[in-house]
Amino acid sequence: MTGSAPVTNIDDVRALVCALDLPATITPEDLAVRLSTMRRRPVLIQPYPENIVAESRRSGEPLPYGVWVAGAASDYIFFREDTTHSHRRHILLHEVGHIFCRHVGDEASADGGPEDVPDLQTVRRAVKRDGEFAEAQELAAETFAYLIERQTRPTLSATGETPAARYRLLED
Ligand SMILES: [Zn+2]
Repeated sequence: MTGSAPVTNIDDVRALVCALDLPATITPEDLAVRLSTMRRRPVLIQPYPENIVAESRRSGEPLPYGVWVAGAASDYIFFREDTTHSHRRHILLHEVGHIFCRHVGDEASADGGPEDVPDLQTVRRAVKRDGEFAEAQELAAETFAYLIERQTRPTLSATGETPAARYRLLED
C-alpha cells in the first residue's frame, strides 16, 4: 500500500491507520496537521464560507455536512456548523480519511484551482464530486473515521465489525 494509488481495500485502510501509530486521543485537526506535514500542503478545516451557506439557503439545496476541496496550494475541509459535536467530528474524520487514502490526487487542482479560499464554483464542483466518489472509496473513508473514533469511543465497536455496520455510521 505504498505509492500513490488510492486506498480502497478495508484491510489496507486498517494497516494505514495502524501505521499512523496514533495516540489514544486525537482530533481531526491533529490529523490535518499530520497530513499537512506528510504532503507538504496545508490541510485547513473551516466552516463553509458565508456566501456558500447563503446560496444553499436561497436554492434550498442543503450542503453536505462536510466536503474536501483541493485548492492550488492548500486543501480545505469545509463543514456545516448546524450539527452536534460528535457528528461533526465523524464528518471531519471521514473527509480527512479521503485525503489519507489519496482518493483524489493532485488532479483535483490540475485545472488551475484558486490560490486562496476556494470560490463558489469550486466548492460546488467539489460537493458534486464528493457525491460521486465510488462506493469503495466512501466505505474506505468511513472505515478510516470508524477506526479513529473507536480509539476514543470504545463503545462504538458494539455496532459490529462488518463493513455494512460501519457504513451505517455515515447515516447517524
Ligand atoms: Zn465521502
